[in-house]
Amino acid sequence: MGGVKQKAPQLIMGKHSPVIHKLRKAMEFYQELGFEYLPVKGLDIRKSLSGTVDGHHPETPADDTSGPAAERGDRGGALESLRNEIGDCIRCKLSTGRKNIVFGEGNAGAALMFIGEGPGRDEDIQARPFVGDAGKLLTNLIVKLGLKREDVYIANIVKCRPPGNRNPQPDEISACMPFLERQIEIIKPGVIVCLGNVAAKAILGSSVPISRLRGTFYDYHDIPVMPTFHPAYLLRNSKAKWLTWEDMQKVLEQLKS
Ligand code: SF4
Repeated sequence: MGGVKQKAPQLIMGKHSPVIHKLRKAMEFYQELGFEYLPVKGLDIRKSLSGTVDGHHPETPADDTSGPAAERGDRGGALESLRNEIGDCIRCKLSTGRKNIVFGEGNAGAALMFIGEGPGRDEDIQARPFVGDAGKLLTNLIVKLGLKREDVYIANIVKCRPPGNRNPQPDEISACMPFLERQIEIIKPGVIVCLGNVAAKAILGSSVPISRLRGTFYDYHDIPVMPTFHPAYLLRNSKAKWLTWEDMQKVLEQLKS
């Protein structure tokens, strides 16, 4: 008595359906693991970001003192002057608990700039941004994008460690932001990536949570800004790595355009 049997979905999807099925399964698998295990083939984004790689423009002779390399030299000098101006800063109360001011580091002519919220314990000790566990994750992400850490510039909203790794407070952000604004003015990145709620709020003036802000470009003085999750959050929420990876693909496209 059996009625008319319905065809299984894969039989009516066409001859490529097994491939699509396998791809979907593979994507689910990588999604489960997070992007760390995504097999990314060589993507020569570094060449696309001309003028930002290895300290010289690919078409500029080494002794050319008027091209992009010279301009980056000027930017490096301007950053150094700014660091000297900051000095042994006591403009806010974070000065009392810090070991070191973490100014920021990277390529003075970087096309891509990452901004976090503030130094943690390891960063405070080493006077370098993003060198702890979250920093290693950020470095991995940069490498998986086809870049080197020294190709980009990395800074924070505040340059001194908030005690106990608490969020920086509004008065501390107000005191320190002018330095970061000057860094952005000097570096003139093509894209800024804000890592986490604090950075996104300080740069964009938005209190919308990062989970809703992320994945879309916003504007900061004509520079496209992509908010995404902070690497410390990704350490605790592996699945969010996939979303960050998606955000970074958009950043790469923006940089290439
Ligand atoms: S956080 Fe910024 S403003 Fe505050 S003391 Fe450090 S460098 Fe100065």
